[in-house]
Amino acid sequence: MNIEDRFFSRVEYSDDCWEWTEGLSSGYGCMHLRYVDGKQFTTLTHRWSYEYFIGPIPDGYCICHHCDNPKCVNPFHLFAGTHRDNMQDMVSKKRCGGSKKTHCPQGHAYTKENTFITKIGARSCKTCRSVYLKKWRSKNGDKMKASAKNWQTKNREYVREYRKKYRAKLKEGKYGL
Ligand SMILES: [Zn+2]
Ligand SMILES: [Zn+2]
Repeated sequence: MNIEDRFFSRVEYSDDCWEWTEGLSSGYGCMHLRYVDGKQFTTLTHRWSYEYFIGPIPDGYCICHHCDNPKCVNPFHLFAGTHRDNMQDMVSKKRCGGSKKTHCPQGHAYTKENTFITKIGARSCKTCRSVYLKKWRSKNGDKMKASAKNWQTKNREYVREYRKKYRAKLKEGKYGL
């Protein structure tokens, strides 16, 4: 099985996060791969997904999650940042979620419908997240769609099978849509 097939068959897809279902390394999804010379190495799957859909990761950058779900490999939820960005991101999310504030920094109420708890335990605003993701999508979406389309054309059979399974899961109500 090639790397792409291995990757795509081990992901639990949904409209939100795509969760890695196999091995984890400090909470992040990982895959064991082999160099041409036979030596094994481990790759983190959110990084693999970023490189596959979006492009090479600049030197010294790490791949961070908008969704704070380390298992997530949905390229829409990933962004390249420095280690410092990552820490600041976590701090600001924590600050936003802390204490007894009733509104997010943008003034949206923390109602039950508008709030979600991130994987680091912070409270976060759904309206802000969707605005943020929308912006990110309009900036990177075309590039990502083009890569995905390219992959799908090359793997027609696989995609057809996958969609069948996905629809079956939808029917079972597995994704609660
Ligand atoms: Zn996610
Ligand atoms: Zn907000």
